[in-house]
Amino acid sequence: MPFSDILGHQAVIAGLRASRAQDRVAHAYLFAGPDGIGKSQVAMAFAQLLCCPESVQSDDACGECRICRLMSERRHPDLVVLEPEGAFIKISQVREMTKMLRYPPVEAATRVILIEPADKLHPAAANALLKTLEEPSPRNLFILNTNQPNALLTTIRSRTQQVRFSMLERQLVADWLIQNSELDEETAQEVAAISGGSLGMALQLSAPELQAVRSQWLELLGRLGGMSLNQVILSAEQLAASQDNLPTIMDVMRLALRDLLLKSAGASSDLFTFHRFAAEFSSPRQEMLIVALDGIDEAERAIRHNVNPRLVAENLLINLGQTLAQ
Ligand SMILES: [Zn+2]
Repeated sequence: MPFSDILGHQAVIAGLRASRAQDRVAHAYLFAGPDGIGKSQVAMAFAQLLCCPESVQSDDACGECRICRLMSERRHPDLVVLEPEGAFIKISQVREMTKMLRYPPVEAATRVILIEPADKLHPAAANALLKTLEEPSPRNLFILNTNQPNALLTTIRSRTQQVRFSMLERQLVADWLIQNSELDEETAQEVAAISGGSLGMALQLSAPELQAVRSQWLELLGRLGGMSLNQVILSAEQLAASQDNLPTIMDVMRLALRDLLLKSAGASSDLFTFHRFAAEFSSPRQEMLIVALDGIDEAERAIRHNVNPRLVAENLLINLGQTLAQ
């Protein structure tokens, strides 16, 4: 995937293009930022730019030549990818890679070594890598991807050039979903808002099963204030039994209440996640919403740790019902 196909990250891409145009590409980069926002794609596009024979006079890879294709399939011998084998990236993997560095790249101008996620380097592997980073060898470029740069050895961080990736803008994710998925506009906006600016997360959240869970619980939340105690208890049983979907359900509750909080603060409806929900409710008092939001976090922790899930779910839904009935 060349740079031209990547969603967002324009400043990062401009910086990488400039470093290549001015012949000052670092020997090692640390790409830092949340998961699912496109660090791997940018790394791959940069690798292609440095290796594609068609890109000599251009600031992007062609994306179509043999080298570009093999690279995007991660099958080119001059692209070395270190990923966890089991829980960690092992020292044997790092040793295997360093052996290759003794020889020049097979056919590309540069060999690219992509390590992701770099925070999964076993401590021994990290130390072995550090030695390699301390003695940079020409025509080898390291790219380390991580969502937690602070988990890496300080010495590794100091020997790499850090590139910070930001969340994608909500509208950018929504537009992408509208163009490239089956989602209608309202759902695309909703998914983009919940994704927190991660396209990878947005794609996961687009799954029909999760959409169904979200609509079910949003609808239930809308009725909660008017439910009988019996109905609330039945819903609580359902919630307590939904371990798999718990994060999704809790997110729905959090974001719906956050919408009401934004509404009561007079914020623009552009910031809402669930527009119809927010429109149907006259906002409860802000302090009640804040207490209710804390209650959701506490309940999620308790249910996850299996602290009497039914009782926790009952308390949560009763409290939310009272808040929403205001
Ligand atoms: Zn190419």
